[in-house]
Amino acid sequence: MFDKILIANRGEIALRVIRACREMGIQSVAVHSTADADAMHVRMADESVCIGPPSGTQSYLSIPAIISACEITGAQAIHPGYGFLSENANFVQIVEDHGLTFIGPTAEHIRIMGDKITAKDTMKDLGVPCVPGSDGGVPDLDTAKKIGEEIGYPVIIKATAGGGGRGMKVAKTAADMEQAFMTARAEGKAAFGNDEVYIEKYLTTPRHIEIQVFGDGKGKAVHLGERDCSLQRRHQKVFEEAPGPCITPEERARIGKTCADAVAKINYIGAGTIEFLYENGEFYFIEMNTRLQVEHPVTEGIFGVDLVREQIRVAEGLPMSFSQDDLEINGHSIEVRINAEKLPNFAPCPGKITQYHAPGGLGVRMDSALYDGYSIPPYYDSLIGKLIVHGRDRPEALARLSRALGELIVDGVDTTVPLFHALLEEKDIHTGEYNIHWLEHWLETNLGNA
Ligand code: ADP
Repeated sequence: MFDKILIANRGEIALRVIRACREMGIQSVAVHSTADADAMHVRMADESVCIGPPSGTQSYLSIPAIISACEITGAQAIHPGYGFLSENANFVQIVEDHGLTFIGPTAEHIRIMGDKITAKDTMKDLGVPCVPGSDGGVPDLDTAKKIGEEIGYPVIIKATAGGGGRGMKVAKTAADMEQAFMTARAEGKAAFGNDEVYIEKYLTTPRHIEIQVFGDGKGKAVHLGERDCSLQRRHQKVFEEAPGPCITPEERARIGKTCADAVAKINYIGAGTIEFLYENGEFYFIEMNTRLQVEHPVTEGIFGVDLVREQIRVAEGLPMSFSQDDLEINGHSIEVRINAEKLPNFAPCPGKITQYHAPGGLGVRMDSALYDGYSIPPYYDSLIGKLIVHGRDRPEALARLSRALGELIVDGVDTTVPLFHALLEEKDIHTGEYNIHWLEHWLETNLGNA
């Protein structure tokens, strides 16, 4: 059993892990940059270590600093949260080389899923349905054009190393191919140091449905249903819910089993998310995230399980505390991402919080590292909180979301809260009729946002 875990992250996700540690009787170590000396995760952890200057590359991404912090404090394991080093296979290798435990999958699984072409090939072999497209990488423009003709436009050109919505370009017709191909390549090279790209059929009105899986690393795995994360701006999720409003129990059982079987076959350990586009009753794999997702609380909401606790358990070599038969959906959960951003353009808006009040009451969970007087530093991403609600059904969850948003006070900076108030006035949000383009259309029409 671990006595002490170091959390290589900041913000709400660091708190999330500290909370699980405390409930399990495990000591927690926070790491922080100089800009985060007063951050909530530092205050809440049992110990803290300053690991560098504000820039993420010199602090939260500094592998030597994090390993040293483990050695100084005697932490035996590292929880990476999401983002930062959570999907860095090299980091996992170094952690293990130092006799420490990485709370997450193996370096090999991270490597396989981190390269989108390899991930797709692997999933295809494991029987997971994929988006039709090129067989692996596309070496040059002529080949790209040929493939475009074969699968039919529109197509999407994706950098194999891409992530966070970067390195993806759509070609609506053959005339767009040259520009899209070159840009996706250049973005892949610039952002990820890898210019290999592949091509997929561009689905025009899909929903983004992702399946939460969990493995024990010894050939056992379960699925925890789906999350619908179709409400996105620039491929970034803003509103997530579980279960998906359009997924039937039969569809869930079928795709869930396919995913659980796939990860069981590769002895996957810990939490993972298999992302799909869903159109006309068909699922098409797009990528797998080998970590805890930002939106994991909606899954926790409907299944009543603690996914971080479970990650820690399997990392210790313990069995999962639930089996597939124990997992039954209860009600409906919705998460909205509260970012320090100014509408209509979502410009980052760091600054000092002059007043903060978190909503409460039945079925309300606020995961946030904010407090009165806290100054949001300008160096990191703009997520400052997640408001998660749970209700017996979707209408109750929506009503609760509206009520909780009304109670939330975040003064001093602009936030995305007004967006959610406005979305809750929309009929389509209440009927659940939206796809991955709905929000961008809505933003264009209502906020003149391009
Ligand atoms: P990233 O790793 O950058 O998040 P993903 O492959 O997960 O990239 O895709 C992110 C989003 O891009 C999807 O949720 C979807 O909105 C859009 N997308 C990706 N592939 C396709 C496709 N083949 N057709 C239509 N939209 C797509």
